[in-house]
Amino acid sequence: MKWVIASSNAGKLREFRELLGGSGIEFVTQGEMGVGDADETGLTFVENALLKARKAARETGMPALGDDSGLCVDALGGAPGLYSARYAGEHGNAQANIDKLLHALRDVPDAQRTAHFYAVIVLVRHAEDPQPLIAEGIWNGRVLHERRGDGGFGYDPVFLDPEQGLSAAQLDPELKNRISHRGLALAALRQKLLDAVR
Ligand code: IMP
Repeated sequence: MKWVIASSNAGKLREFRELLGGSGIEFVTQGEMGVGDADETGLTFVENALLKARKAARETGMPALGDDSGLCVDALGGAPGLYSARYAGEHGNAQANIDKLLHALRDVPDAQRTAHFYAVIVLVRHAEDPQPLIAEGIWNGRVLHERRGDGGFGYDPVFLDPEQGLSAAQLDPELKNRISHRGLALAALRQKLLDAVR
């Protein structure tokens, strides 16, 4: 089985590689196949994940895994949410995104800084697949007042996992993959795949 992964985010690709290792699934990234990023014009995470997966499947003829994710902050009515990657304007500028988030929450006390990471991962067997496999994952935590740690990517330095008492950027990558929104979504997708072939 060979899939294309419809992402060009280096941090996510590293996690996918770790998460899919040993699964028996061979995969290539869309970049390796010459596929560019899809326009994320959907109004929901799942629509964007499907747009990405369908584009990669259409252009490669292979089954494709697409994902979409973001950080949803309660005190901001769920923002940056769907627009997490481009919260501060430029796509994928993590430093600017974090600065904007910390500024928006500057007067918000700890108890009201609750947030969650959300991830949805879809698998389309082909571009027109009417029955994609869809799996989601949620990681609850809190937004810190300042950056902590230098691992991970995106908002990791300011996302506190209350159970570990550490930011996502301070977590061992293996542990992050086990408890994160993306890790949980991929585990759920794996289960759906097993159920589908049973
Ligand atoms: P996407 O590529 O449209 O799914 O953008 C997701 C954005 O959400 C990323 O660019 C990050 O800003 C943020 N994000 C998603 N997952 C994580 C994570 O595990 N850690 C930190 N930031 C994340």
